Amino acid sequence: MGKFVYSCEGILNAFNPEETWCSQQVTRWCRIVPAKVNIMCWRAIQNRLPARSQLAAKGIDIPSVLCPSCLLAIEDVQHVIFKCDVAVEVWKKVAIWHDLHIPAIDDIPMLLDWVEASISDAKKRKVVGAIIYTTIWMLLRFRKSIVFKDPKMKKSLIDDNIFIHSFDWYMNTCACPEDDPRISTGTFGPVNNFLG
Ligand SMILES: [Zn+2]
Repeated sequence: MGKFVYSCEGILNAFNPEETWCSQQVTRWCRIVPAKVNIMCWRAIQNRLPARSQLAAKGIDIPSVLCPSCLLAIEDVQHVIFKCDVAVEVWKKVAIWHDLHIPAIDDIPMLLDWVEASISDAKKRKVVGAIIYTTIWMLLRFRKSIVFKDPKMKKSLIDDNIFIHSFDWYMNTCACPEDDPRISTGTFGPVNNFLG
């Protein structure tokens, strides 16, 4: 494959979503989060996100394959979602917030398998799954904001965005408004608060 310059068109051609939708089936659909989050997570699972190492492997001429956030490692999907300093910090906070003992995993299907195997309560399992999807989506959004120099998505806002979005999505799909724990507690709480 010949080299071509870094451009939106080049990236779209390299990662044709129609091709991927036709060739694979979604097997891990989370009903709480929106379709855009499911699609992003599914593409991450399929290793079909435009991480720099992927772009370079497809012959796209990019200035560096290093992670644009830490500049310390080659950027691939696992690095962005699990290994980069930002990701490690965010997952720690998510675990503390929800009192979860998340094992050292750098693979999305394995992480979802862990949720399935370790949480017996079906509702709680759904909520934790949604939080995991939201966390992955936010980390990918943060990475995109760095690449495209978007000042709106700040590192300091990742946690709040995970909490707010996952909570609102859960309330919109699974709970009655009167069960909204924000009404009684005035704040966002851990998984048990999601469950009312
Ligand atoms: Zn990094």
